Amino acid sequence: MQELYADVIIDISHEAIDRAFQYVIPEKLVSQIRTGCQVNIPFGRGNTMRTGYVIGISDRTEYDRTKIKTIDSVCTEGIAAPGRLVALAGWIKENYGSTMINALQTVMPVKKTVRSVVVRYVALAVDETDEIEYKYMKRNARAKLRLLRTLKGENIIPMSKVTGELGVSSATVKAMQEEGVITVTEDSCYRKVTSDAVRKEAFMAPDIELNDIQMSIINEFQDDVDKDVHRTYLLHGVTGSGKTEVYVQCIRRVIEQGKQAIVLIPEIALTYQTIKYFTRYFGERVTVVNSRLSSGERYDQFERAKKGDVDVVIGPRSALFTPFERLGLIIIDEEHESSYKSDNPPKYHARETAIERARLEGASVILGSATPSVESYKKAMSGEFRLWTMDERVSDRKMADTSIVDLREELRRGNRSIISDELAEDITDRLSRHEQIMLFINKRGFNSFVSCRNCGEVVKCPHCDVSMTKHMASNGGKLVCHYCGYTVEEPSKCPSCGSRLIGGYGVGTEKVEQEINRMFPVARTLRMDKDTTSKKNSHEQILESFGRGDADILIGTQMIVKGHDFANVTLVGILLADLTLFDGDYRAGERTFDLLTQAAGRAGRGDVPGKVVIQTYKPDNYAIVAAANQDYRSFYETESAYRSFMRYPPEWNMLVIMAVGEDEEQLANTMDRMYSHIRGNHMNVRHLAVIGPAEPALAKVKDLYRKVLYIKHRDYQVLVDVKNCVEEWLRDDETREINSGINVFFDFNPM
Ligand code: ADP
Ligand code: ZN
Ligand code: ZN
Repeated sequence: MQELYADVIIDISHEAIDRAFQYVIPEKLVSQIRTGCQVNIPFGRGNTMRTGYVIGISDRTEYDRTKIKTIDSVCTEGIAAPGRLVALAGWIKENYGSTMINALQTVMPVKKTVRSVVVRYVALAVDETDEIEYKYMKRNARAKLRLLRTLKGENIIPMSKVTGELGVSSATVKAMQEEGVITVTEDSCYRKVTSDAVRKEAFMAPDIELNDIQMSIINEFQDDVDKDVHRTYLLHGVTGSGKTEVYVQCIRRVIEQGKQAIVLIPEIALTYQTIKYFTRYFGERVTVVNSRLSSGERYDQFERAKKGDVDVVIGPRSALFTPFERLGLIIIDEEHESSYKSDNPPKYHARETAIERARLEGASVILGSATPSVESYKKAMSGEFRLWTMDERVSDRKMADTSIVDLREELRRGNRSIISDELAEDITDRLSRHEQIMLFINKRGFNSFVSCRNCGEVVKCPHCDVSMTKHMASNGGKLVCHYCGYTVEEPSKCPSCGSRLIGGYGVGTEKVEQEINRMFPVARTLRMDKDTTSKKNSHEQILESFGRGDADILIGTQMIVKGHDFANVTLVGILLADLTLFDGDYRAGERTFDLLTQAAGRAGRGDVPGKVVIQTYKPDNYAIVAAANQDYRSFYETESAYRSFMRYPPEWNMLVIMAVGEDEEQLANTMDRMYSHIRGNHMNVRHLAVIGPAEPALAKVKDLYRKVLYIKHRDYQVLVDVKNCVEEWLRDDETREINSGINVFFDFNPM
């Protein structure tokens, strides 16, 4: 037989060995080894046993056959990635920049392999029991008799019941097994990840009559599915237009074809309501994977997906890599969200990666949003994506009324509170009518920063070069760095000039709650931010509690604005709309528009129309005005014109190369050299902009310095070439020496 060789990526993250190594596949393993499976191999001079991933198999080798090592064995645990996911990993490596092993680990999110809980069952192995029963009676084998008679009634029972309730010893079970009377089988019992409350609603879908626009969209999808045409659709639907219903119906069409679907949601906080909605349609054929699950629980869900025991998997970004064998549809809800971009290398974008996975596997993609990303909308305009638009809320529900409050005016009139007079009046009114209120501020904590009124010094984290945020604690105030967690007591004097005129400025969720309690002592408040939701299920508890009407006012960060559906909320207050406007990057306008629109969408979901109050210091800003008018198109026109004028994505593409190191001077040298190297190698590429080296907004984090180069070009592939060129340069022995201790990261079109 022809000898076979496997290309194996070693499970060690190091640039120096970031390539495939060839191994002989021993004859006994030939039938087991597939692309994507995990193997044990001897590696290095000492032949240490390592694990690796098979990324390809061939029948020839370019190396000296006698020098090639042999695969030891196949890892029996862990879910082998189907070959197509390995191909996807290759694509991720090429397009986002990372080592192959990091890319592989990304598409295989279950790193620790944990066995499923195995449950053993006892079953009857014979058809005729009379004779055996008689025999046991004669011998007075009471335990055996008990088990036999129970099995006659129930056929199969769990071992736990046999040894527990029935009081039959395992020795007796073994004896009966040897007599051939019973068999013992094992079955994986998957850990349940949805709550009982959710499962109780299985198949209790509301009887909804789809409206015309929903019908026409679903019919179009059905047509494409029937013709085996796979596209990317952009579903642009205002909040409350019934997008979820469209998702559900499209998934149904895909399941009817024997295929499966992945639904991505932007954050864990949305899991509960999404899984509830989907369970009503698909029962236990839907499951969830996210980081809140233990690795064992996650392993089980991937295993179920691979076996085809579930049709729908819901989860954040990483759920995209669910190893379905027959993937038919990927849905990305709230596709504009920045959480779809990974913040660790490889910094892939789930939207682009989903489109690539769909291409590799012959599946469709639906991107949904009330505020599509400028990127996606542009592609929809150019015809690359199919655009579906839903302009109206279901059941003739009105969009909320919006009012912009100019905070400068408020100050001039002498109101120094975080709550404008207009908003205060509206709150009083809603409280008296027992309607609910949501107040949104994009900042947790108490004050956004602490500064000195004498010298202007802002208290910064000594490790990160960002301002520290004030938090209240029972024993006084503390300052916390939101980047590294560094915490200090609130200083009573300015650390820089010694003045006592030091205090907190700006606002956060805690401060708002305190202010509301002071202004409206009877109102019951709930707060939802990163500090109140650190425990498992705390999201659900707060949301359920608010949904039940346990509180009148829910105060929170952006966690509360995304997709939550509370029928009794008739007033939404956006306390400081400008907070996102000055983030200092090119997406600030888009982020502001999105947040305001989403927040506005939370008002008036029931029968009573809602009102939104937007408080701002910049009432004329285009993003704020467009959001107040709920006018996506006008926002898009202004924003995309600005982007192309400034040579930003999506018109242009941008690559940020960041280097991180302890030694500031060495870092500066490295970046200078990298700059020259790029310039030198791409001299004749027209319109290539190489900017820097520069300091990023966060020039120092956790005692490590950072420097960046910005590369811009219209053509994404040119940036990939630059990345490859830098990677090669970094691998060069001489450069490696000089750059030791410095890490380089790539970020394409940063969010
Ligand atoms: P979106 O995601 O677009 O904000 P949802 O999908 O959450 O909106 O829909 C809002 C509500 O409207 C949900 O409770 C949903 O069940 C309901 N709904 C959806 N389609 C219809 C319809 N055709 N008629 C009546 N109610 C609908
Ligand atoms: Zn000072
Ligand atoms: Zn810090």
